[in-house]
Amino acid sequence: MGYDYRKCVSQINEFAADNPAADVFSIGESVMEKKIYCISYGEGERRLFLNGAHHGLEYITSAFLMQFLREYARCIKDSELMLGYDVRTLYKRVELYVVPMVNPDGVDIALHGMDITNVYHRRLISMVGIHSFNRVWQANANGVDINHNYDARWNVVQRSPAPSKYSGPYPESEPETRVVTEFVRAQDFDMLMAFHSQGGEIYYDFDGMAAQRDLEAALRMSEASGYPVRTPEGSASFGGCKDWFIKEFGRGGFTVEMGHGKNPLPEEMLEKFYEENAKIVLCAMSELSERY
Ligand SMILES: [Zn+2]
Repeated sequence: MGYDYRKCVSQINEFAADNPAADVFSIGESVMEKKIYCISYGEGERRLFLNGAHHGLEYITSAFLMQFLREYARCIKDSELMLGYDVRTLYKRVELYVVPMVNPDGVDIALHGMDITNVYHRRLISMVGIHSFNRVWQANANGVDINHNYDARWNVVQRSPAPSKYSGPYPESEPETRVVTEFVRAQDFDMLMAFHSQGGEIYYDFDGMAAQRDLEAALRMSEASGYPVRTPEGSASFGGCKDWFIKEFGRGGFTVEMGHGKNPLPEEMLEKFYEENAKIVLCAMSELSERY
């Protein structure tokens, strides 16, 4: 059980069936050839990219993004405010692109462990050399930590494939990383937000490159959610998705660490911190529509 790739795909399909205005498409494939899906929804000129589950143990971020989309679409249909935000206006101003699960292989390994009969898993076991994979696994099916594999002060933390923090043989060596960077380059997003767990904080900068309006946006998201704004330090400060986005485009890139506790956060816990994170997304959309 748990929020694995299968469950995520079935929720994506349900969402598409219930909301004909939404578009669902694959943006590429993981190491184990799972399709990485994106949902686009909205009519606006401003484009916001939301993604989750760069890390295997952090599948609660995928569950969050799907719940957000469902509630957002429902409030639009019913002409209701969502947590105080006028979502009909946001829908007309902002187009959302949501990739709920960037690292589907990692999520399934974290949830279901390794299957010795699977050729990818056998190869991975021979590289990593440990035999208990669930509850520790953050990387992809090559043992590379996707969120250290982007070309933004890419650096070596671990020397070889590992459950977490191995940044790979070179930047963008991994299919999942390239799927995201190629997609972002093609789509020309105005803002990017990557969801992780846990810590209850918002990261906004890379190497002092963030603009004043990005700090101001982060402060408003902080006010809406109660999460403090942080600047990355140590190993959190290089090779990440939002780092690369800020470095490459000079636009607003944010990492949200949702919830508190020990990973993997149980799915039931989402109710506790759903609202504060939904407010972060709505606040980002309203920043984009008014100030960017
Ligand atoms: Zn993470």
